[in-house]
Amino acid sequence: MQHVIAAHQNEPALSSFPGLAERLAAVQGGVADAVQLAGRSADEITTIVVTKFHPASLIEALAELGVHDIGENRHQEAQAKAQELAALDLRWHFIGQVQGKKARQVRAYADVIHAVDRESLVAALASDESVIDAFVQVNLTDDPARGGVSPDGLIPLVERVLETPGLRLLGLMAVAPLGAAPRAAFAQVRELGERVQQLAPDATRLSMGMSADYADAVAEGATHLRIGSAITGNRPRER
Ligand SMILES: *Cc1c(COP(=O)(O)O)cnc(C)c1O
Repeated sequence: MQHVIAAHQNEPALSSFPGLAERLAAVQGGVADAVQLAGRSADEITTIVVTKFHPASLIEALAELGVHDIGENRHQEAQAKAQELAALDLRWHFIGQVQGKKARQVRAYADVIHAVDRESLVAALASDESVIDAFVQVNLTDDPARGGVSPDGLIPLVERVLETPGLRLLGLMAVAPLGAAPRAAFAQVRELGERVQQLAPDATRLSMGMSADYADAVAEGATHLRIGSAITGNRPRER
């Protein structure tokens, strides 16, 4: 593994981020507890560490700790980090809203796109050359700015994904609405996912659960947790 050695030539990145290893271990422990409580198996769960607004060196430090799955939500920032860290063995999850005109560029570095939410984006992501993993995002609120397709529009959008070359549907993605009980929201996503599986039996994954609500998400069947601040600490600046 030549490339890993090269990336470690300098001072280990980990020493610049005090507390990171402890926070990661605490979240990993919390996920393990939630998995056990739910009677599930740990290998069903992928924990994605969301590193938006943090420097690439934080991702290097996470890689030193064995993290493999990285989440980013802004195209330019994600693209720059993926380029800088190309030598590391990382899986890039694009968890933000994708602009149609950037879709092909996001496809180029992302391994998984979590927020497919409209037919025009499905069309923009089509490819005859390669296949990318994708989640359809459902919006559990009445606010379109939160991203995601409304539950009413879900099945037609899923049909469009299934007939589009270059996209492999993994399942559904959602963010729990602010101010509502996350567990009930995640139960709703699970039910919607069961409906989707009638059309797409392999689309069994659920991307849901963040720092504050991942235990509820695990209880309702999440397979991909997107956890940021509980691991990284506070983000340096917010939008
Ligand atoms: C930022 C973000 C997360 C992580 O949020 P935390 O509360 O920091 O864990 C998860 N999902 C999406 C879509 C995000 O934008």
